[in-house]
Amino acid sequence: MSAPSNIYWADRQAQLAAGLAKDEKRLYAKFSAYYEREAARLDKEIAAFYAQYGENNIIEYRQLLQSLSDADRQLLIERMDKFAEKYPEYAHLLPVRESIYKLNRLEGLRQSIAMQQLEMGAYEQQQAQEFFVKQSQRFANGAAEMMGYGSSFYSIDSDMVKMAVGNPWCSGKNFSERIWDNRTKLTQTLQAEIVNGIIRGDDYHTTSHILQGRFKAVSKSNIERLVFTEDTYLQNESAMNVFANDPDFEEYTFMARKKANPCDLCKALSGKTFRIEERKPGENFPPMHPWCGCTFTIPQLDIRKVLENRRKHAAEQQKSTAIPLTDLREHGIMKSKDPLRISMQFFGKNQNIEKLNDAQLKKSIRSWKAGIELHKDKIANPKKYYPDWDTFDPRYQDGNVHHWEKEISNFETDIQRARAELRKRGIADE
Ligand SMILES: [Zn+2]
Repeated sequence: MSAPSNIYWADRQAQLAAGLAKDEKRLYAKFSAYYEREAARLDKEIAAFYAQYGENNIIEYRQLLQSLSDADRQLLIERMDKFAEKYPEYAHLLPVRESIYKLNRLEGLRQSIAMQQLEMGAYEQQQAQEFFVKQSQRFANGAAEMMGYGSSFYSIDSDMVKMAVGNPWCSGKNFSERIWDNRTKLTQTLQAEIVNGIIRGDDYHTTSHILQGRFKAVSKSNIERLVFTEDTYLQNESAMNVFANDPDFEEYTFMARKKANPCDLCKALSGKTFRIEERKPGENFPPMHPWCGCTFTIPQLDIRKVLENRRKHAAEQQKSTAIPLTDLREHGIMKSKDPLRISMQFFGKNQNIEKLNDAQLKKSIRSWKAGIELHKDKIANPKKYYPDWDTFDPRYQDGNVHHWEKEISNFETDIQRARAELRKRGIADE
């Protein structure tokens, strides 16, 4: 069981998110300065191209294209040598025409653009990796702190920190693949822009302006979207890994951030509870979409178990068996200050046995029986389910076995109640 903490998880998440936003701004500024430097480098390449062919020649080439008849334009494009024979006065423009289609200076420029994009992708990947590991550690430790382990429980190279970084959670791709996809697309865009610019006969300033604009704006929006969205994932996933590791936690509640003006998709899910092991970004777990800052998640304790432990404890102490709900609220897990609403929510699991029809009751009994067998098997052969079982911290091993024993006893209780209900209805259980 987690040790008490006075910090509400929702507040803690809000604090962590504020820290995150500051770090993200610093990273964006760093990337932005980098893109400025690289844009200047790209500009030099473009300037060199124009210097080689002469800006006036490029503009003149466009004017030539516009002035030619269809037949002569066709001739220029398909039979350059014949065109030069027919119009020797335009022979000096042929290198421009050639540069657009052949391996020469333009191809060189295209190659430079591609190489630069490769370097930039590598830089972004390395910076992002470093940043994401730090964020993951921060969020894992935020969760550890709430559970009473302290705020520096996980080191930067602990498995719990690494677990969430680089997961292919978004369309089966991890963040570095997405960086490469973005860079490949931008390479193609820039190459197409430069060819189009020269075909149009744009002057140097126009070409440079269009390319630099694309280059900086697309780089910036791609990396910021990627960092923000990946961070949203890490914020939730790194913390949830920690809770998932504790047998007391099985579910979480999806919450929309009112202050963030959540979108309809996220609002519709707000307040819904899901199983931790069934979490899926884009379906029931943040981020739900690119630039999703609409939401956060709250892990839910199985209060029935917590109360049971407390009852035992209270009995041992020969004290009152009343459970002080204020204590539970101080864990930061309770969502409401209204004890009635809390109890309805947390005791709801199999409260409705009376409401189930005969067939549903029988089906439930079968599934609880199967659950008992499964958990007994887990206790007998934990390695079958967790191949690394022997490497687990003994506290974690004990915690799991304890959890499975509890589940068995819960299932047994449920079966007894369901059978009693069936008998009451005059039906014998098979
Ligand atoms: Zn949303």
